[in-house]
Amino acid sequence: MPHPSSPDRNAIWRPYCQMKTAPAPLEIVSANDFELTTADGRKLIDGMASWWSVCHGYAHPHIVESVNKQLERLPHVMFGGITHEPAERLAARLAAMLPADLKHVFFADSGSVAVEVAMKMAIGYWRRRGRPNRQRFLSFDHAYHGDTTGAMSLCDPQRSMHADYGNAILKQWHCPLPKDDASENALSEILARHRDEIAGVFLEPLVQGAGGMRFHDAATVQRIRKLCDANEVLMIADEIATGFGRTGAMFAIDTCEIVPDIICLGKALTAGTMSMAVTVARSEVFDAFWSDDPGDALMHGPTFMANPLACAAANASMDLFEREPQVRRAADMEAKLFAGLAPCRDISGVVEVRCRGAIGVIQVEALPRLDELRQAFVDTGVWLRPFGDCVYITPPLNLPDTLLERLCDAIVNVMSSRRFTA
Ligand SMILES: *Cc1c(COP(=O)(O)O)cnc(C)c1O
Repeated sequence: MPHPSSPDRNAIWRPYCQMKTAPAPLEIVSANDFELTTADGRKLIDGMASWWSVCHGYAHPHIVESVNKQLERLPHVMFGGITHEPAERLAARLAAMLPADLKHVFFADSGSVAVEVAMKMAIGYWRRRGRPNRQRFLSFDHAYHGDTTGAMSLCDPQRSMHADYGNAILKQWHCPLPKDDASENALSEILARHRDEIAGVFLEPLVQGAGGMRFHDAATVQRIRKLCDANEVLMIADEIATGFGRTGAMFAIDTCEIVPDIICLGKALTAGTMSMAVTVARSEVFDAFWSDDPGDALMHGPTFMANPLACAAANASMDLFEREPQVRRAADMEAKLFAGLAPCRDISGVVEVRCRGAIGVIQVEALPRLDELRQAFVDTGVWLRPFGDCVYITPPLNLPDTLLERLCDAIVNVMSSRRFTA
């Protein structure tokens, strides 16, 4: 039933939003390059790249042209029993970009679904290898792997947005990232004790996103790979947020110099044009499903998987990564973000300013009056969406220096007149 006082506003049930008390959402009518245009004609510099996805800026002409051409030729066709050139080309390109034999690409329609598919691949892999009891997973404190029920079970249970659901969520193993000897031993013990029920370890390599914007180093990721090998459990890298240049390398696993058994990619895959994600498996995983028995197949198939428009957008984005130094731009952005955000260190309640690639994070003790803070950013002409205990920016990788400076200045100015103490 519509809310009596504002029926229009409640027609849309909004994400992560207390519908009763939240301020009205900002209406955006268009977006070009690095700016969003509001319904009342203001231009806002986008510091979010629409949740990490718009890696080349909005409405990039090459992507628009590619998607338009595809729209006229074949906007969609089912993928069961059918294939098409945009999907074939994209799968081949992803396989060529990823290390070793990560080359079996399963198309999903969102990041959360890609995580679900990775869970099903891992459980199915062990069943076909004679270990049917390996049906559970281990993930790390502060992890975020998505909002569907399987993916929710992999999120940090203490800090997740999923506390409501109790026993409806699968029970998994969770522990701190192995950043030192003590935490490495703790992980090693859990894996050794429960390896007969653990199908895989899920990890966001180098940067944990929505669970707190926290960083760890390559050595931590290497320890996880080593312990997965020692205990014969699969390692699943969730690079839905970190993939495609964000950390200053094409993939975080490149920096870590490890190869996971399965990798999930999403967000920037189509440069923020369409919803699409992929789950990519190594041959060892793929081969387990390869048999004369139809019952050994991977039983999954989203209606809109490998949507040709999304594939066209992703292929156009791959062209841009080949033609332009986007990844180097992201790497170079790190020092610029550090310099631009450094004054935040002196603000009352700021715990840490940290930057990696095209990610800048100001962690504070507390974010009181969040709605007021968000509005203050809009009033200074930038779009940011602080959450939890972080003000953060993840702009398009090719954001020009002048706009990056304006973004950083806006953050420093808005935050300087406020306190963030607990
Ligand atoms: C965003 C995100 C997801 C979920 O992707 P959706 O497309 O929102 O379903 C999963 N894992 C990580 C690391 C993410 O950042």
